[in-house]
Amino acid sequence: SPSDPTVFQRRESEARSYCRGFDAVFSQAAGSELIDADGNRYIDFLAGCSSLNYGHNDPDMKQALIDHIAGDGIAHGLDLHTEVKARFLTAFETHILKPRNMDHRVMFTGPTGANAVEAAMKLARKVTGRTNIVAFTNGFHGVTQGALSATGNGYHRGGAGIVLAGVTRLPFEGYMGSDIDTALMLEKMLGDPSSGVEPPAAIMFETIQGEGGLNAASAEWVRRVARIAKDHGALLIIDDVQAGCGRAGSFFSFEDFGVMPDIVTMAKSISGFGLPMALMLVRPEHDKFGPAEHNGTFRGNTHAFVTARIAIEKFWADDSFQEQLKQKERIILSGLAAISEMVPGARLKGRGLMRGVDVGSGDLAAAICRRAYDNGLVIETSGPNDEVVKILAPLTTPDTVLRKGLNILMDAVRDTVT
Ligand code: PMP
Repeated sequence: SPSDPTVFQRRESEARSYCRGFDAVFSQAAGSELIDADGNRYIDFLAGCSSLNYGHNDPDMKQALIDHIAGDGIAHGLDLHTEVKARFLTAFETHILKPRNMDHRVMFTGPTGANAVEAAMKLARKVTGRTNIVAFTNGFHGVTQGALSATGNGYHRGGAGIVLAGVTRLPFEGYMGSDIDTALMLEKMLGDPSSGVEPPAAIMFETIQGEGGLNAASAEWVRRVARIAKDHGALLIIDDVQAGCGRAGSFFSFEDFGVMPDIVTMAKSISGFGLPMALMLVRPEHDKFGPAEHNGTFRGNTHAFVTARIAIEKFWADDSFQEQLKQKERIILSGLAAISEMVPGARLKGRGLMRGVDVGSGDLAAAICRRAYDNGLVIETSGPNDEVVKILAPLTTPDTVLRKGLNILMDAVRDTVT
């Protein structure tokens, strides 16, 4: 049947979002490039919002998937034991968990990040017998009701009259640009019954707030919050859905911070190939869901196990990939430094390869992204007012392509600001 681009306006819900900014009809992709139906090429600095950390159609993952399907490998297995799952778990244990001294168990949740967050919040409540979850301003955890209740970002919370209860949101580090000691504030509020903050089942946050404007917590803040969680009998949940899988420059966003979360949520790039897959890592003493207590038809996508194993073995079996990330981070930082000189009052945001620039207004950020898109770069904004131009290039982007994309962005800034 023909590809009719008017069908989107005619038949797709008004809830569609990214496609409004990027109005091409995309048909193919490879590495860090997207190709539209007219054959135009775009450099992809959105990368499925960090779901494509290893680029589009990685040749090894693609071949493994083709072989699996050609050999009648199982396509859907509920949570049955399958060979592909065993291989993924073994690779994850060998190359990710053991080298980091993590004794966590892996629980496959429904396929999206929000599913992993729901599971984490439920489990923390079950384990502690408490209801309250402490989360933070501008955090984003997903759009299902539990995850949404922990989400600070007002834009996503919407106005649908949704009942959101059981979460206290407190100021994240650097709240509104201030130097208020928010870890101290958290500690004081938890110790003071008059604050009304119920003893929490968990304290949950992203170390780099992906949707909330790339606010990056310091190692010291993360350590202090982890300590406060422990002192108050709360589980520490780190939501690594967006910052995980290398985005922060290491596999986990917290691994150089000297903390060990009780629960880690992961999705987006864990499949390696953009396939739906999410999981949570749980310390064994908290692995308290009984069989069937937190079910899901799509817990563990069998095709995703195939590609996820390749991603772990190809990129994380030794340190070479992580070393390359340092060089890419330097390239991004030098591009951003040049950009910040062109925009009065601009502030650099983020950490690792999750970087951006706060240009001060959502209108300016949108104009920059629009201009970049017209010149062949797909790039998005983030932040409470969409004021941060956000770079999420695949981690595998060749240095030359990375520089090319940054040059398009620089030109877009120059054209838009002056
Ligand atoms: N947590 C974080 C940190 C995220 O960035 C996202 C997605 N942007 C989610 C949870 C929700 O993931 P999903 O959209 O797959 O439900």
